Amino acid sequence: MPILSDVTPPIPLTPPVPFTAAPAPIDMVSRQSASPRARTASASLPIPRYAETFRCIGSACEDSCCKAWDLRLDHATYERYQLIPVESLLGRIVQSSVVPLPEPRSEHWYARIQLNASLECPFLTEEKWCGIQQTLGEEALSHTCKTYPRIEQRTATGKRETTLHLSCPEASRLVLLEEHPGSGITGAASAGSQSMQATYEANYEAVAEAMHAAMHPGLGAASRRTGKAVAYLGEIRRFLLVLLRDRRYSLGERLFLVGTFAGRLRLLLDSSAASEVVGELAHLLRDYCLLARQGTLRPALGQVTSQPALQIGLTLGLINQRLDRAMNSLRFLDVVKEFLEGIGYQPGMTPEMLAPAFQRAEREFYTPLIEGHPWILENYLTHAVYRSMFPFGAGGAGTGGTGARNKTPGNPEQEFRTLATHFVAIRTLLVGMAGFHGAAFATDHVVRLVQSYSRMVDHHAEFLSAAGGLLESRNLVDAGSLAGLLLEGAGRPPLASGAMA
Ligand code: SF4
Repeated sequence: MPILSDVTPPIPLTPPVPFTAAPAPIDMVSRQSASPRARTASASLPIPRYAETFRCIGSACEDSCCKAWDLRLDHATYERYQLIPVESLLGRIVQSSVVPLPEPRSEHWYARIQLNASLECPFLTEEKWCGIQQTLGEEALSHTCKTYPRIEQRTATGKRETTLHLSCPEASRLVLLEEHPGSGITGAASAGSQSMQATYEANYEAVAEAMHAAMHPGLGAASRRTGKAVAYLGEIRRFLLVLLRDRRYSLGERLFLVGTFAGRLRLLLDSSAASEVVGELAHLLRDYCLLARQGTLRPALGQVTSQPALQIGLTLGLINQRLDRAMNSLRFLDVVKEFLEGIGYQPGMTPEMLAPAFQRAEREFYTPLIEGHPWILENYLTHAVYRSMFPFGAGGAGTGGTGARNKTPGNPEQEFRTLATHFVAIRTLLVGMAGFHGAAFATDHVVRLVQSYSRMVDHHAEFLSAAGGLLESRNLVDAGSLAGLLLEGAGRPPLASGAMA
């Protein structure tokens, strides 16, 4: 049952604290420039950097992209492969295994490489390296093979950024296991320490100041005239990254705040005149920085209890939707089996019946691991923010690798539902796995789950967006009604009244 559905964050319209320029402690990849001219909309867009250090591990890969996957070829590569002499080994493979699609989807998806009996790419050598690359060089690879797992994206303001598909095990390790890749808060201080507290404060202040600077008369006039909030993705992203790293809140609480922000942003976009959008957005960001700093919603959140049966029910629903494809992925089937066993599933049991074992696994095995490695799921969420260009969605910009697409920016609330659905499913599956592995539950299990889950869902745009529809079908549409789904049953920081102000 919706619990916080009527919560409207009591945001003070005029913040009682001055947003004066502060030394920006934000150590994001793209720092705010000292140059006033550079401090216009999205000039300070933080971008991920981990793609630069990615290296394929080839034959050592435990779930190779050359296996059990739809291997697509672009038109130019297809034509090039037709020129390989048929008497050569590669030529014979081309003739037997490279087939044009009866109805090509696009220039980028023109043909397919048929897998061999082992469900592997037939070009793989015995040592599991790519035969095309070994013989003809990297330039002979198709666009997909050349770039995977990198994703080139272009923001609404034309800025290019490269992120990674988590369906690659090595990319998952790179993104999840290192603390704070391309993010805002550094240092080993605990969330409750004075220095960390000051860092959080300063980070929020820097975000509000950056937006204030972008709004300053005489700066960014052209951007203001466009009246497009999407041009301020940099400022919004900066706020989201700071919030998602704010360990004074549990991850579920942080996601709840992101959801209320997305709801307010949708209202703003729906109801403001174009000329007012940027001004309203500046107020919204400033208000939310204040709200997060002061912990305004914590007392209300403290009244909400986690709803494990809802979390289990949603996850089982998602798994059912993907089961047809899961049959091709033993790795994902394994984690599903571990999840079901870990929560004591037997045919015919309802989510309510499974909840006690789930709660025990969460308390005894999941929470200790996540508390010991708090960056892992933070990294998952910040990566999701980059990857989906949250809160506007990739439709608000373009995908550089396949040509820029000019689509309408997404509805921030819908984008949030999709983000929340996948996060809750991943966390729920992890709790079940924790129950299965007990004290042996470790970060490797988190990587295995995130990678195999991503391989199941991330490459199917229709499923990715339809997942958010699962919530709508249960009338869970805004952050308020989603609170019980988002919040953890164990490991939430204790409420310390006034400590965050
Ligand atoms: S999945 Fe990643 S690490 Fe594995 S073979 Fe493909 S690119 Fe390399």
